[in-house]
Amino acid sequence: MKNIENAKRLPTIIHVDLDAFYASVEERDNPRLKGKPVIVGGRSNKGVVTTANYEARKYGVHSAMPMFMARRKCPKGIYVPGRMERYQEVSREIFRILHSFSDVLEKVSIDEAYLDITHLEAEPHKLVFELKETVYKETGLTLSVGIAYNKFLAKLASDWHKPAGVKEITPEMVPEILLPLPIRKVHGLGPKSCGLLNNLGLYTIGDLLELPEEFLMELLGKSGREVYHRIRGIDPRPVNTHRERKSLGIERTFPKGTRNRQVLEEYLQNFSQELSRDLKEKKLHARTITLKIKDENFKVQSRGKTLFQHINGADEIFEMVHGIFQELALEVPLRLIGITASNLLSEDLQQLSFFDL
Ligand SMILES: [Mg+2]
Repeated sequence: MKNIENAKRLPTIIHVDLDAFYASVEERDNPRLKGKPVIVGGRSNKGVVTTANYEARKYGVHSAMPMFMARRKCPKGIYVPGRMERYQEVSREIFRILHSFSDVLEKVSIDEAYLDITHLEAEPHKLVFELKETVYKETGLTLSVGIAYNKFLAKLASDWHKPAGVKEITPEMVPEILLPLPIRKVHGLGPKSCGLLNNLGLYTIGDLLELPEEFLMELLGKSGREVYHRIRGIDPRPVNTHRERKSLGIERTFPKGTRNRQVLEEYLQNFSQELSRDLKEKKLHARTITLKIKDENFKVQSRGKTLFQHINGADEIFEMVHGIFQELALEVPLRLIGITASNLLSEDLQQLSFFDL
């Protein structure tokens, strides 16, 4: 029940995805193409399809398909070579519009972006409607939008009613939506991982939910943990604007080199407290803590550890940095020691697990 209060503070993130972007630009620049199957791709038969518009998709043509196969499936299609410069120009125009709606924006690719709209007054659906209208009026292009409380779900949602669709995924909808989904829909599971899991008889997210976290980590490596949480509707990744502060750190140079562990640990303890204060003051949490040292021979070393969750407490920071410190041999006296916090998250992203609801 505790999460009912939290629900009010959930972020609102939208994922914006232009529909059949390259092909749509071609249609817009050449109205005679409208309503016809348009395929953008390499000129030769050895090339692959970059984008097929929705008309062409009716014939079974899709991106990454070899050109010769596309021509076989859709002989009446209009085949155009890509014009990257033109697409980039149109993309810039679109991002200018997106920026005017929210400057907490992360560009994923030429035709895809996440926007955090939590801080805006506007009702999300209203804002999305306006955004789509503006893009259509100014560029003639349509886009699909997903609205949710994290990036994974927002991206899943934008794919729901393509083209030109809008879909919102709320916390209440998560179990119903996620359980039957094929595992390839999980961001972070590539074809290889999906193959592995399929071989184990696992096909849907519902199947994956049975697996312990350790098992997924063993099978998928580092990303196993992220997948474990993602299939539960949890994704703490912030919308990463480029202007965001990248790291925060403290370091000190000693007048004379030292190998005294007690002295050095004391520094780390003080730094952890200072860093924690700094983070809290700026309302930041960090996932990565890095220890930096320089020895008397001016050899610099940096070693970091990354957690799944974000922290900003002095004890947590010290625990991490102390763990790294203990692994150091300290053969040469140190002239400098410091701690850096990175992978910063600028707001308190309380994430819901549907198991807590
Ligand atoms: Mg797209």
